Amino acid sequence: MRLVLLGPPGAGKGTLANNLKDALRILHISTGDILREEMKNNTNLGKEAKQYLDKGELVPDEVVTRLIENKLSRDSIIEKGFMLDGFPRTETQAKDLDRILNKFKKPLNYVLYMESTLPVIIQRLTGRRVCRNCGALFHIINLPPKKEGVCDACSGELYQRSDDNEQTIKTRMKVYLKNTRPIIEYYQKQGKLKKLDADRDSQEVQLILMKLFNEDENFHQH
Ligand code: AMP
Repeated sequence: MRLVLLGPPGAGKGTLANNLKDALRILHISTGDILREEMKNNTNLGKEAKQYLDKGELVPDEVVTRLIENKLSRDSIIEKGFMLDGFPRTETQAKDLDRILNKFKKPLNYVLYMESTLPVIIQRLTGRRVCRNCGALFHIINLPPKKEGVCDACSGELYQRSDDNEQTIKTRMKVYLKNTRPIIEYYQKQGKLKKLDADRDSQEVQLILMKLFNEDENFHQH
């Protein structure tokens, strides 16, 4: 199955992807995670990306699209199935993704649109903590680790993303509304969009989604 998770920052795309990974047995690809890894390793790409990430702005289309094209072209990922989280973020990226997949005659099956409201988004992002070692996600109120500052899964150090502050969150929301929201219509026209109320708790969102999938007569063919 080939999926895209679409929605504002803080809608819970990463959390849903983590929960779905086992249920659907497909690879989770997050452009944000890839870029942060490049930044951690101080590569040329990482250095270039940092200027945009720190401000909450988008990395240029050509850079992220090349990244995704390289990733998808390896290890039969397109045939095996994948879940894209954070890509596409512009209409140009959406069209390029279609072009890449059409070359393999393997179009997207679904685009999950996670709809969330601003107060929920701000509460989620300002309280989010990420494991520096394994990338596991926590929240100081909604999903606190057993020991403060320490990852439950691998005992790695938890940190707050530099772009998870109120000022940068506002920029990210503006960027989302201007560049990313319009692609909802693009996918709606393709008949691929499934809308989810992502203000709900992550377990509920997953249950609703699995119900939607099971009611879809095409789901079991993917
Ligand atoms: P995320 O982890 O998805 O919230 O992404 C963090 C940041 O990475 C974004 O604010 C952008 O600066 C950059 N980024 C991630 N995905 C993309 C993309 N598809 N296009 C452009 N920039 C991206």
